[in-house]
Amino acid sequence: MTATTNEKTHPPQWHNLSAQEVSKHLNSDLETGLVSSEVTERQKRFGANELKGKPGKSPIVRFLLQFNQPLLYILLIAGAIKAFLGEWVNAWVIWGVTLINAIIGYLQESKAESAIAALASSVQTDATIWRDGQKIKISSTELVPGDLVILTSGDKVPADLRLTFARNLQINESALTGESIAVEKDTKPVDANAALAERTNMAYAGSFVTFGQGKGIVVAIGQATETGRISQLMEQNTNLSTPLTRKFDKFSRTLLYIILGVAAFTFAVGLGYGNTWVTMFEAAVALAVSAIPEGLPAVVTITLAIGVSRMARRHAIVRKLPAVETLGGATVICSDKTGTLTENQMTVQAIYAGGQNYTVTGTGYAPNGEILLDKNIVDLANSPVLLQCLISGILCNDSHLEFKEQRWQVIGDPTEGGLTAAANKMGLTKADLEKEMPRIDVIPFESEFQYMATLHQKESGEKVNLSNDKSRIIYVKGSVEALLSRCQKMLDNEGNSIPVNAKIVHQEVDGMANQGLRVLAFAMKEVSENQKSVDHKDIAEGLVLIGLQGMIDPPRQEAINAVQACQNAGIQVKMITGDHAVTAKAIASRMGLNKNGEILAFTGQQLAKMEQQELSMAVENGSVFARVAPEQKLRLVEALQSKGEVVAMTGDGVNDAPALKQADIGIAMGQAGTEVAKEAADMILTDDNFASIEAAVEEGRTVYRNLQKAIAFILPVNGGESMTILISVLLARALPILSLQVLWLNMVNSIAMTVPLAFEPKTERVMQQPPRNPNEPLLNRQLLQRIIVISVFNWILIFGVFEWIKGTTENLALARTMAIQALVAGRLFYLLSISQWGSALVNKLQGRVAKINHAPAIAIGIVCTIILQIIFSQWTLMNKLFYTAPLNLNQWLICLLIGLPMVFVAAFVNRFDPLN
Ligand code: ADP
Ligand code: MG
Repeated sequence: MTATTNEKTHPPQWHNLSAQEVSKHLNSDLETGLVSSEVTERQKRFGANELKGKPGKSPIVRFLLQFNQPLLYILLIAGAIKAFLGEWVNAWVIWGVTLINAIIGYLQESKAESAIAALASSVQTDATIWRDGQKIKISSTELVPGDLVILTSGDKVPADLRLTFARNLQINESALTGESIAVEKDTKPVDANAALAERTNMAYAGSFVTFGQGKGIVVAIGQATETGRISQLMEQNTNLSTPLTRKFDKFSRTLLYIILGVAAFTFAVGLGYGNTWVTMFEAAVALAVSAIPEGLPAVVTITLAIGVSRMARRHAIVRKLPAVETLGGATVICSDKTGTLTENQMTVQAIYAGGQNYTVTGTGYAPNGEILLDKNIVDLANSPVLLQCLISGILCNDSHLEFKEQRWQVIGDPTEGGLTAAANKMGLTKADLEKEMPRIDVIPFESEFQYMATLHQKESGEKVNLSNDKSRIIYVKGSVEALLSRCQKMLDNEGNSIPVNAKIVHQEVDGMANQGLRVLAFAMKEVSENQKSVDHKDIAEGLVLIGLQGMIDPPRQEAINAVQACQNAGIQVKMITGDHAVTAKAIASRMGLNKNGEILAFTGQQLAKMEQQELSMAVENGSVFARVAPEQKLRLVEALQSKGEVVAMTGDGVNDAPALKQADIGIAMGQAGTEVAKEAADMILTDDNFASIEAAVEEGRTVYRNLQKAIAFILPVNGGESMTILISVLLARALPILSLQVLWLNMVNSIAMTVPLAFEPKTERVMQQPPRNPNEPLLNRQLLQRIIVISVFNWILIFGVFEWIKGTTENLALARTMAIQALVAGRLFYLLSISQWGSALVNKLQGRVAKINHAPAIAIGIVCTIILQIIFSQWTLMNKLFYTAPLNLNQWLICLLIGLPMVFVAAFVNRFDPLN
């Protein structure tokens, strides 16, 4: 799709044209972009800038795949053999139950997949563009050919662009070309026949800006982009397989072999006793069917899907499903400071300029407040250096403040917003100053360099007494470490330059940092008219230090609570920041981030010098890592992992991607994060808040707990049933339970009773226990013991009731039905005991507060179970299909009463591991 219709067959070779020709072709302007009247028309003509996802497997294939489970093969074969024996009703019931199971599985899986796909697509990409001469931010889906897009490092290229401006621009096109090293870009036309990888003046949709800045005109969108043409890249990542589900698959395969072995053994033993082979076949099938937890796969998927949607509600969007499980096992969380642990609401409180210490009053970004010197309001006319410090803060600045929704808000970097607000308090405005001293060029802030610089035309009546033959000025602001080494001079109180005194400057910095203030240093350099642009080497030396501004960024209250919650849960929290060590430490102590009562802080410089051994000690014991370059985060993660930790790591910048990928759970910031970081992450925080990480951990632990509950609930029934059949065969007695009845219990009854467990809310205990050992199997020892004890009790119920009723009534159908109903009654009590109702009751009995969170799921499950069981034994059709018999009221009550002792058995096993 190209701009003009006659070129549809021969798209222009954009890379071969000059930037001017491209803009003429697309009727766009190289400075001001498209006019909006044009946009609506083009949106209609070209549609949205979206890639159509590759169609997944067809629904029929996905449905058939539901039968692709070893456990279900047995059922299908058993049905076939029944049919072969002429027992058609039997065969159809078996097949019918398998079919229902497949339908439930299919529906659950589709629902989970579409929920995950919806979450993934809810994270949308923004694009910054020029339209009508205005710089605006829009969703990248609204782009049209001709739009002028601005690129900065960390951006995902939103459409195919012909670059019209590039400064140190580097783009990683690995998704398209397979080349993992970023490509240097420029704007010169290239040969018409150049291959994709050699078109250095193009930026292709889906690639990432790893460095520098650029601008480009959109030449193709959506399916027409190069990525759109090879759209297999877009295959949606909705795979439901996780380490846990894979463990499950392995588990069921092992189970299958055991079952086949035991079934064959039963068959042989029975024949040896002189039974007919048809009877023994029934017994073998019943045994096989009874041992298989048919309902379990559906429950696992549902539990995971519910976990994902609960996390989304608490601002954590899971991009990769395994993260749900891993989160629950996290032992260390490494978090950014600014914006995640703190509010990112910067207010300047202290200024050091010309040897004087000023204080600033007022809160937030409002222009209300004063700058005081010894409690007196200062007069800017007599404080030339303070004035210079404020001017540099407002000019070397890319943000602006707006009064919206009843309050002053910052558009852009909060650090810069704070500087603007401070200058506004003294009546200096950005608009006025930019008119007097227009900006000619800029080096934007990057964490890597820790500074930003701008080049300006100098105002005529310069108030600082420096050389007057220089008509341009460079302002630099950044960290003290980055700036001080470039400054040979500083300004005294009158604005004269004197040799820089590093000792005094450091003293001042420490004074501010100790109060938790974030300190920025300001410097300038006067240059001649010949200076047309500013580059890193222009400010390598010869700067004059103007002063310092210290700003407060208060900790988030909810983050303080979340840190506490993590520590109670045995999870270490570590702060990683580009900020000054002293500032970071001061904030860390306010957040209670100490380990063994103290806060050990390391700087990136110290870490860089350490050997592996020393490093792993430092990362283990330290809780603050300051002045850390993004690249060092990877080393931190690896060092922690080498200590056996399960690491969650946050990140937002371009260079954070490797660390996010290496971490067990990479967490990207949804608001402040770059596209590169989001792409690399397992999870995205929509509110950038540390408290949301803690919430996600809580939900992750709950998912794991609920899975264990489901297993603890389902498996003992399989255990009880198979013991019953095995023992009855060995004792040469009539089967207390038939294969079809087993199927009913394992599928219909199990699913109705177990699915509610997936909805169980988190309990308080969940965050009071240490993280689980990542190597511990899902079926750990306590769980296994519990399953055995309950299985034995279930066996006693089935076998006992059957033998008793058979002995007294000689009615096999009645005996079997009552055995089943007693088992289900016991199951009801067991379900209550492991649900939150059980733990609430225990709390109540022990005189603690008993809290029930809104949880109708269990109640619904119980009501459904009771209705289904009544149908099962009272409806004549069911009596025919499942060989059951109707019960009278007395018999119902007897079953209920016999199930009751389960309460004590459950209380007994709960003492060892309450599962709550
Ligand atoms: P963090 O986000 O972890 O606090 P950053 O990498 O953003 O760390 O910042 C590191 C240092 O760079 C800050 O301590 C400050 O000195 C400096 N800095 C931060 N933002 C800016 C900016 N917009 N312009 C200039 N310097 C900045
Ligand atoms: Mg930052």
